[in-house]
Amino acid sequence: MSQDAWYRKLHWQILIAMTAGVIAGLVGGPAIVPKVGWLGTLFIALLRMIIVPLIITSIISGVASIGGGRDLGRMFGKTLGYYVLTSALAILAGLLAVNIIKPGVGANIGGAAKVDLPDLSAPNSPVELLLDIVPRNFFEAAVESKMLSIIFFCILFGVAIANLPEEPRTFLFKLFDTAFQAMMKLTAGVIMFLPLGVFGLITRLVGESGFASFKALGMYMVTIAVSLTVHLFVTLPLVLILLGRIKPQIHFRNMMDALLMAFSTSSSAATLPVTISNVEKKVGVSNRISAFVLPMGATVNMDGTALYECAGVLFIAQVLGAELNFGAQLVVVLTALLASIGAAAVPSAGLVVIFIVLESVNLRGPEVDVIVGAMLAVDRPLDMYRTAINVFSDSCGAAIIAKSEGEDVDTVVVA
Ligand code: ASP
Repeated sequence: MSQDAWYRKLHWQILIAMTAGVIAGLVGGPAIVPKVGWLGTLFIALLRMIIVPLIITSIISGVASIGGGRDLGRMFGKTLGYYVLTSALAILAGLLAVNIIKPGVGANIGGAAKVDLPDLSAPNSPVELLLDIVPRNFFEAAVESKMLSIIFFCILFGVAIANLPEEPRTFLFKLFDTAFQAMMKLTAGVIMFLPLGVFGLITRLVGESGFASFKALGMYMVTIAVSLTVHLFVTLPLVLILLGRIKPQIHFRNMMDALLMAFSTSSSAATLPVTISNVEKKVGVSNRISAFVLPMGATVNMDGTALYECAGVLFIAQVLGAELNFGAQLVVVLTALLASIGAAAVPSAGLVVIFIVLESVNLRGPEVDVIVGAMLAVDRPLDMYRTAINVFSDSCGAAIIAKSEGEDVDTVVVA
């Protein structure tokens, strides 16, 4: 991998595609848009194509793999509690930042602000929200891409599988796990076209509206980066101190390898071996706990991704001039949490599942695609940062849970 020529690396390819797109858009103007804009449209269509089967197989196999053992109940409760708490705190940081900085208000991205507003759906009460989540017919929910309903059913189905007798359980787990692996292959294949997609999207963006779009995107990136920074350097250290009586500076230094690895690979899954090694050998967590908290955390607990989903969707709503009331923002928060659970631990997974959150408040249509396309184009650095935060949060969870089980952790910095 490290032997690969630089131009084979995705982030360089994306950078080149972006530059080429800017040049093509500036030189070609609106006339070039019909010629290459379709590359971007095609890429978005491919992403949409894989979402539903990816989510279904990922959640069912993930939940079923946890198993039905009684013994794990307590630890499972603690782990899940930690995941939900930190993801919710991350989302809160994103929510506040977007509402304070308002990066999308008045922004003109590819002329998106000029179009008619889509019809926004928001339930009137929590009960209505809950009733809306339970699908009357699972297949109807899948056909209509009702993501909350799909996720709800898949979690229950995964739990049911985990509680079956050995033989059918193994059979069904293998079935869904293999299907998930196939979907991951497909996803990786689609992501290979990311540079071409980016080229098409950027050319269209610059060809149609020049550089005006980039100012808005700059503010969007600053907003996400600021809220990620608050989560990494304020919230998670406070969680370490308050829940685990752990010194954050020691934990940071013990986790440095994993953080850098996450930053350069943009994949929590690829980083997992380093995370486990750092958490066991440096932080001092037992294998019993790290083997339980870290692999599940890599796919389920994604604070950075949760923050990004929420802030990204609110940014899009701002660009469109769409007023999201309290109920709609609540739906965004909840779906962002679920979407981060459903996101695979691979590069750019967050930008695949952002459609889930968009769908949950009926934000769809060509104008939404243009904005998402622009966001895709600048996603890579944000992806690197949020992946590091995803991994760091998992490691904090392992340390805190180990401490609560009576283990000594983060007593010294291990070189
Ligand atoms: N790349 C992230 C991860 O692996 C997921 C994302 O795209 O947000 O943790």
